[in-house]
Amino acid sequence: MDLNLKDKVFIVSGGSKGIGAGISSVLSKEGAKLVIATRSEGSVTEDFVTELRSSGTMIEVVYGDLQDVSVCKYVIKKTIKVFGRIDGIVNNAGMNDGAGLSAGPEAFRKSLEANLYHYYDLVHYALPHLKESKGAIVNVSSKVALTGQGGTSGYAAAKGAQLALTREWAAELLPFSIRVNAVLPAEVMTPLYRKWLDTSFSDPANKEKEIVSKIPLEQRMTTSEEMANMVAFLLSDRSSHTTGQFMSIDGGYTHLDRSLT
Ligand code: NAP
Repeated sequence: MDLNLKDKVFIVSGGSKGIGAGISSVLSKEGAKLVIATRSEGSVTEDFVTELRSSGTMIEVVYGDLQDVSVCKYVIKKTIKVFGRIDGIVNNAGMNDGAGLSAGPEAFRKSLEANLYHYYDLVHYALPHLKESKGAIVNVSSKVALTGQGGTSGYAAAKGAQLALTREWAAELLPFSIRVNAVLPAEVMTPLYRKWLDTSFSDPANKEKEIVSKIPLEQRMTTSEEMANMVAFLLSDRSSHTTGQFMSIDGGYTHLDRSLT
């Protein structure tokens, strides 16, 4: 199926690593033009740029911390300056910072800054351009929004709010034919996930084995590419009557009967 994404312009927040890198990669293979908005200077490596450009893709990288509103504003300005249009936004940047109930009000607020506000800010500044293109928005949330995890109030609140905003924006943007959907990863091996395993458990290898054994479909983690394939579909006009939906891309981890594993 041709997703008709050729020459469409997408912004991927956190598009240099993990799930975001998978999304950048799949969109570039579909011929889309990309703006990768990410934090760590140099994290879009030469090798990655070469891989993305091998399919003829034009890419622009904006480095900056999206917690800073002016960075979000600049990302949109730069996208318009370079490509002249915006066909979609993938809100993906974020991290599970483990700010639980005992961490205190300041840590809780910081967690919302890190995980929630920039989802709103990017869409806010892109809105006139999304209206023009009848664009699409995909919010990368988490299973934690539905299941809880324990010890991570800020992240859970942000991930839940992303789902609420998905429905809220889907409703508000109906008159403009802008579709808004969310994907919910559960267990995807990324730099962030690796760090969480390695720093949170005395025996990370054993913990990984234990988690994988509970994933119903094929007892394996979801790949970034599998996440990205759904994101590309939701950005494309092949999903032209799909809006306000939450897609769990997790091998049945969140929704299937626990007795199966
Ligand atoms: P990752 O490997 O850490 O990649 C995230 C990328 O986002 C990094 O490049 C990071 O930049 C960037 N980023 C984070 N905060 C940023 C900010 N404030 N400004 C600019 N860039 C920022 O994480 P991932 O595992 O791929 O996670 C991607 C998304 O999926 C997140 O929203 C996460 O909550 C969600 N998720 C992941 C899993 C999973 O199993 N991996 C499960 C559920 C939900 P730096 O390099 O500077 O850190």
